[in-house]
Amino acid sequence: MPDVINLSSRTEGQLPPGLLEFIRAAGELAQQRQQRLYLVGGAVRDLLLGRDNLDIDLVVEGDAIKLAGEIAGDYRAKVTAHPRFGTARLEWKGGRADLATARAESYARPGALPAVQPGTITDDLARRDFTVNAMALELNPRHYGELLDPHGGRRDIAARLVRVLHDLSFTDDATRIWRAIRYEQRLGFRIESATMKLLKRNVNMLSTVSGDRLRHELELVLKEESPEKPLRRAGELGVLGKLHPALRGDDWLAETFALARQDQADPSPQLYLALLAYRLTAPELDSLISCLRLPKASAEILRETPELKKNIRELSMSGLAPSRIFDLLHGHSPTAINALCLASGSPNAAGHCELYTGVLRNVRPSLTGEDLKKMGVPEGPGIKEILLKLREARLDGRVDSKRQEEEMVRGLISGV
Ligand code: ATP
Repeated sequence: MPDVINLSSRTEGQLPPGLLEFIRAAGELAQQRQQRLYLVGGAVRDLLLGRDNLDIDLVVEGDAIKLAGEIAGDYRAKVTAHPRFGTARLEWKGGRADLATARAESYARPGALPAVQPGTITDDLARRDFTVNAMALELNPRHYGELLDPHGGRRDIAARLVRVLHDLSFTDDATRIWRAIRYEQRLGFRIESATMKLLKRNVNMLSTVSGDRLRHELELVLKEESPEKPLRRAGELGVLGKLHPALRGDDWLAETFALARQDQADPSPQLYLALLAYRLTAPELDSLISCLRLPKASAEILRETPELKKNIRELSMSGLAPSRIFDLLHGHSPTAINALCLASGSPNAAGHCELYTGVLRNVRPSLTGEDLKKMGVPEGPGIKEILLKLREARLDGRVDSKRQEEEMVRGLISGV
């Protein structure tokens, strides 16, 4: 029999007291119900790696939703149940945990979602993506902290390898190709050589994956600390090109992403996406948008870029009047402008974009349409015209008080 590895002292050292108390209490309750409860997936992997991870995934050999309800009663936690998936989320003052029923899966065809039925923890670990993610830690008091590692996850963590559990893994679910790249780059691991052969052989299987699932994987990549790393690797392996052949994970992208991080603490995935797609033409963008089934708001931001890029020459000039900068950028989203600012490579253009988003965008005249009517401007398009002129004068510093605006309006009315 293999040695029993017990990680309870690691859990004590690494998990915050609130979470620790919670998983112990949950384990005791499961024991009373004669069910086995486990901590699984990324939390176990990161425990072994000594990395912080507050994403607590629990698996019970039994009814997860029922057990979640009982834990919640003891713990004054809020439960959100998803009966279709047999999962529940628990949220309480000290944290959050997801609880699932142990399940066995089978794949009817590549890319399809698997058929699922309740199973044992062994079944549940066997359906997972990589050995390092296919370990469990028992939480029942008598075996608290004992590691279940049927696929050699600990060995692969020591060797820093990402390895699939079986040869059909990428065929069953090609999103694992993106996941392998993401873990490899995040953890500083290497995709193990047989896994790499399978990955390369199955890159085409990405076409079996729905746009929604591809988008989800790309979003996870863009939420990484340094998304340029997995994107570069995905480029080298021909994976990025499956989203669109014109996408590049090159030095330019790495430098521009790094610039984005210098500019703001935590760039949004949407900004990274706008930068990734920046060099695409309008028709290329359309095909990327449909491949990823991007929601309308995100698609609109990407579609702004070709239009904005037309203004880049003028924006790169020095001595532009603020009102001209305003005209060149007005109506565009802050994210698209931000992407332009970072990607332009022109200090002048970047400065103009910053001036617009920081100051000019909020400049308005003091006078309103009502004020103009009271001053004798007849109702109709003339009102809007004067308001625009007032804003332009404000932007360029020709007026800077309500009184000066009134003087200007009087001059306009009298045709001076
Ligand atoms: P991260 O640190 O990226 O959140 P994680 O391991 O917690 O890592 P999740 O995406 O939250 O990742 O998934 C939780 C667990 O579910 C994984 O550890 C893995 O065991 C399993 N899993 C997720 N996606 C898949 C998949 N496509 N195929 C097989 N198993 C998967």
